Amino acid sequence: MNKSGKILAVLAHPDDESFGMGGTLAMYTRQGVEVHLICATKGEAGEVDPEFLQGYDSIASRRESELLCASEHLGIARVHFMGYRDSGMPGSKDNQHPKALINAPLEKVAEEIVAYIRKFQPDLVLTFDPVGGYHHPDHIHIQKAATLAFQAAGDPGQYPQTGPAFQPEKLYYHIFPRRFMRVLVQVLRLLGTDPSKFGRNRDIDLVKLAGDEDYPPHVQINYQKVKDKKEKASQCHASQISFSTQNPLLRRLTKIFNAGKDTFMQAYPPVAENYRAKDLFG
Ligand SMILES: [Zn+2]
Repeated sequence: MNKSGKILAVLAHPDDESFGMGGTLAMYTRQGVEVHLICATKGEAGEVDPEFLQGYDSIASRRESELLCASEHLGIARVHFMGYRDSGMPGSKDNQHPKALINAPLEKVAEEIVAYIRKFQPDLVLTFDPVGGYHHPDHIHIQKAATLAFQAAGDPGQYPQTGPAFQPEKLYYHIFPRRFMRVLVQVLRLLGTDPSKFGRNRDIDLVKLAGDEDYPPHVQINYQKVKDKKEKASQCHASQISFSTQNPLLRRLTKIFNAGKDTFMQAYPPVAENYRAKDLFG
């Protein structure tokens, strides 16, 4: 099966693409779809052990090279860094940095995405769900900007300085089924790990997430055929792989629940709550 078509993924940090929708991106690039990625920051606020910084002058340059490594495995044709700074966890000092993504006006972030959309002319735009997957402030900010940009790109009256209007067909939000989170919370407690401080940067509050409302799982992408590519891409982000996500029991659980599938909500054009599909282009 060969597809022509273009996908633009709009995310916040190096690793969002691999730990998130990487399987889906690899599925489509394998079918001939041209995938570009906008990455708003270089993950400057991520915790990185000193051993991973050897040969790099900063966390940003280490994580940039990790993303380029991952992109190669996923078949992403181009990565565009917006140049904002990682805003870090809520309440951290990184929030105050003048270049932090969350301090950039949404209209300004959206303008740059509009410019990219008008030039690249993607059929589909993919980003986080409205809670940014796990309430990371950068994920929420870029999700809002990407949604604004999607709505503005086709309107010649908006951001006219960024080129002729172009309207992509569909906007999707990548979602994590809450059912899996609820089980994960129980398992982590059994393992003696605090489920409210999950992940390498301990910024994922699974307890809060498990209580969130579920988004409609409109499209499920089975990426079994390329799961080795997603695995290799994830391994590129060595500085961000945590002990807890490496735990064999957790890995097995993730396998059982995710089973090589990514889930998306179709945000635009709106569809019925019970709409179900197996192809983002469908
Ligand atoms: Zn992220």
